[in-house]
Amino acid sequence: MTEEKTSTKKEGALSEVKGHLEALTTGFKYFIDPHRMTLDYPAEAMELPKNYRGFFKLVDDKCIGCSLCEMVCPSNAITMLQLPPAAPKSSVPSASQVEPQPQTQPQAQAQAQPQAKPQVAVAQSQSQRPRKRPLVDWGLCIFCYFCVDVCPTEAFETSNVHDISYFEESEYRPTFDGFLRVPASPSRGAKRVVAKTDPNKGIRYEEVGRGDGK
Ligand code: SF4
Ligand code: SF4
Repeated sequence: MTEEKTSTKKEGALSEVKGHLEALTTGFKYFIDPHRMTLDYPAEAMELPKNYRGFFKLVDDKCIGCSLCEMVCPSNAITMLQLPPAAPKSSVPSASQVEPQPQTQPQAQAQAQPQAKPQVAVAQSQSQRPRKRPLVDWGLCIFCYFCVDVCPTEAFETSNVHDISYFEESEYRPTFDGFLRVPASPSRGAKRVVAKTDPNKGIRYEEVGRGDGK
């Protein structure tokens, strides 16, 4: 009985040593083989299709707050925020910035008409309304792009950035300002390759350029 146990232990130890040697040999082989399958990520990365569904961002000016994106989202990843009114654009000159122009008498009469006041009031009240804006939770998003497709004003700008990782679970939920930009990919500017089948080597990678910087 004791001899049997000793023999089983020896076999187990030999098997472990054999396994380790095989693993080391395989690792060494792929270390020196220039046609190994692994990529030197993030210096090298696969070229993705043009329509690859990656992270996207909101273009604030285009959003009309209709909530269609929230309604269509199958994973409840979108929350509509109530934001304060947008700050007035500095490009719009204030009354004090506009230089007074010499006026003809009919123009002066037209400006004196009372109907000009309601138009100004409507524009002001629109700019003072709270804004409804979507915010995505990347931890829930399944990148189906239903929201992108349904948006009537094309307010989402898409990218093929997909290789983002976070340390904390809370980081999956960006702030509104964070949702106005696509997260920077670690493989930005990396050598892009595509896989080609090769009758001798199985698969080889061909360089097709550099990452587009997104
Ligand atoms: S892409 Fe994400 S946020 Fe948009 S509808 Fe699909 S799951 Fe929802
Ligand atoms: S992003 Fe598009 S669909 Fe969503 S609220 Fe804004 S306008 Fe509507």
